[in-house]
Amino acid sequence: MKRETQSNQVFKLELPTPFSVGDVNVYVIKGDQLTLVDVGPKTEEAWVAFQSQLKEIGYTPQDIDQIVITHHHPDHVGMLDYFSEDVPVLGHPFNAPWLKKSQQFLVEQTTFFESLFVKFGVDEKFFPLLKKLNDPLGVSCNRELTSFLREGKEVDGLSGWKIVETPGHAQSHIVLYEEVSGVLVGGDLLLKHISPNPLLELPLNGGLERPRPQLQLNHSISRLLDMPISFVYPGHGENIEEVHQLITYRLKKQAEKAERVRSFIAEKPLTAFQACQTLYPTKYDKLFMLTMSETVGQLDYLVDIGQIIVDTTQQTHIYTVN
Ligand SMILES: [Zn+2]
Repeated sequence: MKRETQSNQVFKLELPTPFSVGDVNVYVIKGDQLTLVDVGPKTEEAWVAFQSQLKEIGYTPQDIDQIVITHHHPDHVGMLDYFSEDVPVLGHPFNAPWLKKSQQFLVEQTTFFESLFVKFGVDEKFFPLLKKLNDPLGVSCNRELTSFLREGKEVDGLSGWKIVETPGHAQSHIVLYEEVSGVLVGGDLLLKHISPNPLLELPLNGGLERPRPQLQLNHSISRLLDMPISFVYPGHGENIEEVHQLITYRLKKQAEKAERVRSFIAEKPLTAFQACQTLYPTKYDKLFMLTMSETVGQLDYLVDIGQIIVDTTQQTHIYTVN
């Protein structure tokens, strides 16, 4: 698939992943340099698909001058390992520990979630999941970032495209915006068919407070409403043309979901785990981490707008209506 934008050419490649989300989209942008945005997971299938689709547009992996990553999830960065060490990899600094996967970091992440499980009142039968927390990183990479991308920065060799920091789905999330054409290469910030999960992450940079990913995600997509964006190349699924309508719809749906959670808590005070069981009675068991992060997202939102309060004086935190 090909679409011309004002100053560059953007090519969309669709690569298979071993995750339930299905294929991941990566983009080749032909500017002064040939830039690849995201790379797919570290699997033979993805690498074969990448090479063959790249060939269709007249390139080989050796032609890629630089790689920009939108965020650190394995389906977007794993294949970095298949590229020569000479190819620069650019991304937000928060990608670094996830790409490097030091033993210390992996232990930190497990310890962080263990303490969250306690605060959220998670049933003991789910604690063994902590041992599997790092499993998805098996199809991720082992790589260093060459340079960091921050808000407002222009990428060398990709003139006209600016970085917008968009944390929420991942703390490391950025998008590329071409002002002159209103085109966004959006990673997992905005998807047509599903709302990206506000995934819980450990605080980086020595912070003690955990991030509030749903609040960040709402802020990140709301910012786009002030920008004349006409087209989004997403990290999964179809391209998006009705961008502002979709954002408004996502915000509305999220507020409705939060309202459901508030109504459960109005009946009786709940832990985050109990709220998750009530919100996702048939799903929470099989999709535990995803349904928990969705639920905690709603709780954080309700606390933020003052509709509920959280009692943190005990080991297990209890949410009540305000
Ligand atoms: Zn993602």
